[in-house]
Amino acid sequence: MVETQHWRVDPQAAGLKEDLQIRAAAEGIKNGEIVAFPTETVYGLGANAESGEAAQKIYKAKGRPSDNPLIVHVATLEQVRKICTDISPIARKLADTFWPGPLTLVLSSRGEVSDSVTAGLSTVAVRMPSHPVARALILAAGVSIAAPSANRSGRPSPTRAEHVLHDLDGRIYGIVDGGETGVGVESTVVDCTTTPITILRPGGISREQLIEAVGTVAADPAGTRPDQTPKAPGMKYRHYAPVAVMYLVPSGMKRIRELIDQEKNNGRRVGILTTEEHKSDYPRADVVHACGKRSELESVAHCLFHTLRYFDKEKVDVIYSETFPETGIGRAIMNRLSKAASGRVVE
Ligand code: AMP
Ligand code: MG
Repeated sequence: MVETQHWRVDPQAAGLKEDLQIRAAAEGIKNGEIVAFPTETVYGLGANAESGEAAQKIYKAKGRPSDNPLIVHVATLEQVRKICTDISPIARKLADTFWPGPLTLVLSSRGEVSDSVTAGLSTVAVRMPSHPVARALILAAGVSIAAPSANRSGRPSPTRAEHVLHDLDGRIYGIVDGGETGVGVESTVVDCTTTPITILRPGGISREQLIEAVGTVAADPAGTRPDQTPKAPGMKYRHYAPVAVMYLVPSGMKRIRELIDQEKNNGRRVGILTTEEHKSDYPRADVVHACGKRSELESVAHCLFHTLRYFDKEKVDVIYSETFPETGIGRAIMNRLSKAASGRVVE
């Protein structure tokens, strides 16, 4: 156990790169320590990407399987060129269109980042975050930062500092607390070494946005099929799971009310994942949580991981969740919900 340092930073403040809190965190990264920090998607747990030893600390703190590579976070295109070869015109177009932002590009590795970061693959996943605190930290550290989400493996990703501390207090050197993150689901991961490019994980940039930018886009079919090995190693693992057993209910509110009645008759404590529009429609449930507004799917993404952690706090036995249309950011929402439910669906 270590004493985890807690640095509070206002993301809107001017001159963040020189901020004393950021400099203390950057110093930690330079010295091979691991530090959690906010990005526009979720909180990341960062280490110097050039240090295998530092990266190993991330796997250990998270309990992350060692074959699941980390995303390298950069602040400049120069840092990308330093770690990747063959930045194709399409990759360049994606970077120009969506960076800084919630898009991760899988490119050929130059071998500069540690094997522990790439899990020994010949490719490396790179992203330029837009969050001012993340950018300032990378620039102040002067190195690219390898960072997965700052949760214990298998748990919902953290969108608030309290989520990070719940999972990792005493296991990490420090946390830069910049308040709540924005997008709320992780970046879209796109493999740029295939023609056409392939979506390995849906996320903050939608398939529609990618198609508009570069035309043809494929999706990794194995990413959604439990019997096949997906190309993003992380997609095969259990993820985002709340403590209670969770089910998705695509057939709607009436069916959910029947399920609540059944569970209550068996003496179980029931949680319902719904939205503002329907939060009054489940009077018999023990915990009804409105996860944003159905009419604004971005707001659902923003609240999603907090909602899953909220049900843990409320100690429900079972969670039933409404489902969402799989368009735009809805694909990322349904991907995370379906994993949180380990694929359980009530017809
Ligand atoms: P996380 O940082 O935990 O949100 O997960 C990052 C995702 O990117 C995981 O699913 C990884 O398996 C995937 N990933 C990272 N590097 C690569 C790579 N070089 N090739 C394919 N997938 C990758
Ligand atoms: Mg993760």
